Amino acid sequence: MPRVHKRDMAKILVIGGSLGGLFAANILLRQGHEVTLLEKAMGSMDGRGAGIVTHDALADALRAAGVTVDESLGVPVTGRVTLGADGERLGEMVLPQVLTSWSRLYHMLKESFPNERYLQGKTVKTVTQDDNGVQVSCEDGSKHEAELLIASDGIRSVVRAQVAPNIQPEYAGYIAWRGVCDESHLSKHTLDTLFNYFGFCLPNGEQMLGYPVAGPGNNTQVGQRRYNFVWYRPASEDQELIDLLTDADGNYFPFGIPPLKVSWKHIAKMREAARAILAPQYAEILEKTATPFLQPIYDVRSEQIVFGRIALMGDAAFVGRPHVGMGVTKAGDEALVIARHISALGATPEALAAYGRERLALGQQVVARAQYLGRYMQAQGLKGNGDSSNLKRNATTVMSETAIDISTLLAQGKAVPEATH
Ligand SMILES: Cc1cc2nc3c(=O)[nH]c(=O)nc-3n(C[C@H](O)[C@H](O)[C@H](O)COP(=O)(O)OP(=O)(O)OC[C@H]3O[C@@H](n4cnc5c(N)ncnc54)[C@H](O)[C@@H]3O)c2cc1C
Repeated sequence: MPRVHKRDMAKILVIGGSLGGLFAANILLRQGHEVTLLEKAMGSMDGRGAGIVTHDALADALRAAGVTVDESLGVPVTGRVTLGADGERLGEMVLPQVLTSWSRLYHMLKESFPNERYLQGKTVKTVTQDDNGVQVSCEDGSKHEAELLIASDGIRSVVRAQVAPNIQPEYAGYIAWRGVCDESHLSKHTLDTLFNYFGFCLPNGEQMLGYPVAGPGNNTQVGQRRYNFVWYRPASEDQELIDLLTDADGNYFPFGIPPLKVSWKHIAKMREAARAILAPQYAEILEKTATPFLQPIYDVRSEQIVFGRIALMGDAAFVGRPHVGMGVTKAGDEALVIARHISALGATPEALAAYGRERLALGQQVVARAQYLGRYMQAQGLKGNGDSSNLKRNATTVMSETAIDISTLLAQGKAVPEATH
C-alpha cells in the first residue's frame, strides 16, 4: 500500500477498538496517517468472542495491518461432517479451512498498534462535522478532532445512532448458545468422530455447529486445543428472549447478557435439551463446557454507510447473521477499501464516498445471504420430520453453504438472494 507524503498526512479518528477498528487503525497508520482510536471498554477485552472462521481475504487484511500470517493463525481442518441425533455420520465433505479465535486476532492486531494511540475508557457520546473536520466528545468530557472519522463501534453503534437513527438491529427470532470446551476433557469417541472436523448437527429448525480452535496461550498442540460451538435455537422475542437475557437474580440485560451472568437454570435446561436432541458427542461437549454463554442473533442492514466525513464499517454498518461466518473478514475488507480510497483521493469526503459506492451493495448482499441461510435453518426439518433422505439433503446443503466467503460465491457466479427488506 503506497505511503502518503508528509503533507498528505491526516488526522483520523477510529471509534471502537475491537477487530474492525483495529483493522482500520492499523492499515491507516501504516499509510502514514495520525490515527487515534477511541474504545469505551477499560482493561482487558480478552474474554470476548470465541471461534472465528477464516477466509483468504482475512489473511490479506491482516498482512496490510502489519500482522505476520503463518500457521500460528489457527487450527486447520480438512473437512466437514454432519452427525445425526444418534451420533452416526449423516454426511461428510472435503473443505479445508483454518479456524481461529477472536482473542488470537485481537492480540495480533493490538500488538501491531501503538498503545499510546489506543485510548481506553473513551465512550463516544456525540459526533458533529463541518466543512473542515469532525468533532467528537466522550462521556469523560474529553474532546477529539480529526479530518475523518471511521466508526467501527459495533451493532449498537452510537455514531450510527446519530447519523442514521432509523437503522436499528432487527431480532432474527433465535439465539446462539456459544462456548469452548477443552480437548483434554473429551472422550476418545468424541475426539475420533467429531473433534477434528467442522461439524454440524441439525435438530428440527435448529442448528449446532462447531470446530477446533487453539487452547490457552494460543496452543495448537494435540491435547491442548478447544472445541468451539455455536448452537442456534429459536426464542420468541417477548417472554423467551427476556428470560434468557435475565440473570439468576432477576436482572434483565436487554442489549446482551454478559457471559458470566447467564443463569445456571438456563444452562441446565440447555444441557438437558442437548441430551435429548443433539448427537451424544455434542451433548458431551455442552456438558463439559464450563461457561456456555448466549447471544441473540440480529440483522443490521444499512441504506447508507457514508455521511460526509464519517464512514460506518464492521458491525456498525452491517450485521449478517453468523451463518455466513463473514463478520471479521468483511470488517478487514472494508478497512482495506477505505484505506485504498484515502490513499488515492486523500483524507476527504470523496474518498469515503468512493468506499460507500464500492461496499454498500456487497454489505447488503452479506446480510441477505445470511438471512437466507437462517430461513433455511428455521424451515429445515419442519416438513418431512425424521425422513432420513431429507436429513441427508439438508446436511449436504448446510455443509456446502455455511461460512463460505461471499466473494468466492460471487466469483463462481452463484446467486446471492435479494434482501427481504
Ligand atoms: C454467534 C456469533 C458467531 C460469529 N462467528 C463469526 C465467525 O465465525 N467469523 C466471523 O468473521 N465473524 C463472526 N461473528 C461476527 C464478528 O464477531 C463481528 O462481525 C466482528 O467481530 C466485527 O466486529 P466490529 O469490530 O465491527 O464490532 P465489535 O466487535 O462489536 O466492536 C465494537 C467495539 O466498539 C466499542 N464501542 C461501542 N460503543 C462505543 C462508544 N460509544 N465509544 C467507544 N467505543 C465503543 C465496543 O466496546 C467494541 O470494542 C460472529 C458473531 C456472532 C454473534
